[in-house]
Amino acid sequence: MASKPGGGPPRPEGASPPRPPVKPGRPTAASQLRSPRFWITLLLIFGVNIFAANVLFAPQPAKSVTIPYNVFKEQVSAGNVVSITSTGTVITGTTKTAIGATPKASDKATHFSTVLPAFADPGLESLLEQNNVTINVNDPNQQPPFWQTLLISLGPGLLIVLVLLFVMRRMAGAGGGGILGQFSQSKARLYDPERPGTTFADVAGIEEVKAELVEVVEFLREPLKFQRLGGTVPKGVLLIGPPGTGKTLVARAVAGEANVPFFSMSASEFVEAIVGVGAARVRDLFKKAREAAPAIIFIDELDAIGRSRQGTIRLGGNDEQEQTLNQILTEMDGFDSREGVIVLAATNRADVLDAALLRPGRFDRRVTVMPPDRRGRAAILKIHTRKVPLDSDVDLDAIASDTPGLVGADLRNIVNEAALAAAARGAGAVGEADFSNAIEKTLLGTERHIMLSPVDRERIAYHESGHALLGLLVPGADPVRKVTIIPRGMALGVTVQSPVDDRFNYGERYLRARIIGALGGRAAESLVYGEVTTGAENDLVQVTQIAHEMVVRWGMSDKIGPLNFTENGQPGPFAMTKPYSEGTALLIDAEVKRIAEECMERACQLLTEHRPQLDTLAQALLREDSLNEQEILDVTGLRSRNPRDIGDPD
Ligand code: ADP
Ligand code: ZN
Repeated sequence: MASKPGGGPPRPEGASPPRPPVKPGRPTAASQLRSPRFWITLLLIFGVNIFAANVLFAPQPAKSVTIPYNVFKEQVSAGNVVSITSTGTVITGTTKTAIGATPKASDKATHFSTVLPAFADPGLESLLEQNNVTINVNDPNQQPPFWQTLLISLGPGLLIVLVLLFVMRRMAGAGGGGILGQFSQSKARLYDPERPGTTFADVAGIEEVKAELVEVVEFLREPLKFQRLGGTVPKGVLLIGPPGTGKTLVARAVAGEANVPFFSMSASEFVEAIVGVGAARVRDLFKKAREAAPAIIFIDELDAIGRSRQGTIRLGGNDEQEQTLNQILTEMDGFDSREGVIVLAATNRADVLDAALLRPGRFDRRVTVMPPDRRGRAAILKIHTRKVPLDSDVDLDAIASDTPGLVGADLRNIVNEAALAAAARGAGAVGEADFSNAIEKTLLGTERHIMLSPVDRERIAYHESGHALLGLLVPGADPVRKVTIIPRGMALGVTVQSPVDDRFNYGERYLRARIIGALGGRAAESLVYGEVTTGAENDLVQVTQIAHEMVVRWGMSDKIGPLNFTENGQPGPFAMTKPYSEGTALLIDAEVKRIAEECMERACQLLTEHRPQLDTLAQALLREDSLNEQEILDVTGLRSRNPRDIGDPD
């Protein structure tokens, strides 16, 4: 039961834009070390060695029985013994017919051994001779041959070393370098540098970013000419923006435009590496890039290692991260941008980055990558539909209008989904309906098939009708596009409100309209049932957030005044020190509460006044499951209004 008012796009909880598939590369030394295959191989080698030592090299007697000395003499006398071998006090030998301790055939053998008694038996020799027994004598102190001893003692170790060498060579690929050094070779070497075919023509909607990077491209194309003309080149450019806005894409496009190799790695790979490897890899990465210069190094998810070392609680195991970060800093200080290597990095959390990374000579240029506006979205859609046959009823500009807040990766997904749906129904081209279904799926999450009791369904219908009705009634609210009581994603019902256009500045009246709308679900429930439910949790989260920001961030409370109590514009929930007194803290709490309560009162009042419309809307929802903008207006008899006409002050 989430209300999804405008401003940002409604997004299914926990959804993140899909990342481009990771280029499959050769496994690294570290990952080899962890792979089960490596360990199985090692175990096998051990096994073979032990087997070899014990079985192949050790003399393996045929099946033999141990017999008492007097039994041995009896057998000699009986003429059954063919030959004997004496080694010290032990006599082994063979018999004509099998002998044994028991009459059982399985216990019998033609080989036997026995032990000479400590007292000499002078009669034995003549007894043997009388019975024509061949006598062999082994020197009891005789050693096995030298090579055999050596092989048995050194063989297993030698084999292991040989196999390890072999494995390591395979891991590091052919080529020189120290044996151990091979472990620290970076992925940038193991993956060959890319030569991306991507160009700026593949990137849309972030024109400012492209404009910032044109200079980098020019420099990479002709470093000397660029400097002669007095250009100064940044060493590092940090791309800051939410996931899916095209940071990786634009970095690749820079390499493609300049036709230089693109060394890319994700910082999170360093963190998982075995100790000491991260730093060594960074060193190697920079070395390789400098050898290939002009070149681009791209480090994705820089925040994974570049997190501020101050003020965070470190729970051990972060040494690797720290070492890697230090190595990046050292490398960036250690080369001159004139060498023709430019480091691009991406992050969606510039606020958590270590200040050392942002110092001059490192990532001293920062470019913000914003979600695209309506025109940008249309341009991105155009790029991604280049190879998709479209029906004549598809209007990319209209789709762009319906998707405020979505980023490039979302739009690419929508195109994919729509194309798949069209293919599934066997159509030759992608139609308008395919797109609207794909948008709905992206915005609201996939439908969930859960059985709701009639009582629950009615409650949800009233809850959503409350949101929708207030969206229509409150001046300044975003138009209500759709309301549904089909469970989707995490929500049991959804009301979609989206702005007429992208908005970047919000008036106080608009913010209050959003709070009132968000409280509409709860207001309707308490009005109709006299009781509230847990279904309004997400709504209340929104209410609290907006009301709080109005007070501490946007100076919209007279009692607090035109002040901003946030750090760098970010509310700092874990800030150790509050930049205001205890008295102000109490006042802030009171003001947030006042705003929320005033809005709740207004919501209840409006719904009470329009109770008949609330009932008809809920009944229609129970019948139809979902209603679109026009159907909502028809059912309630209300008129659509453009929020801009209602005197929204901004
Ligand atoms: P980020 O690195 O910011 O998370 P990506 O560059 O990985 O985002 O974007 C993922 C995919 O989404 C891209 O490969 C591209 O297909 C698409 N995309 C994202 N932004 C844009 C854009 N501005 N123009 C065109 N396509 C985009
Ligand atoms: Zn709700």
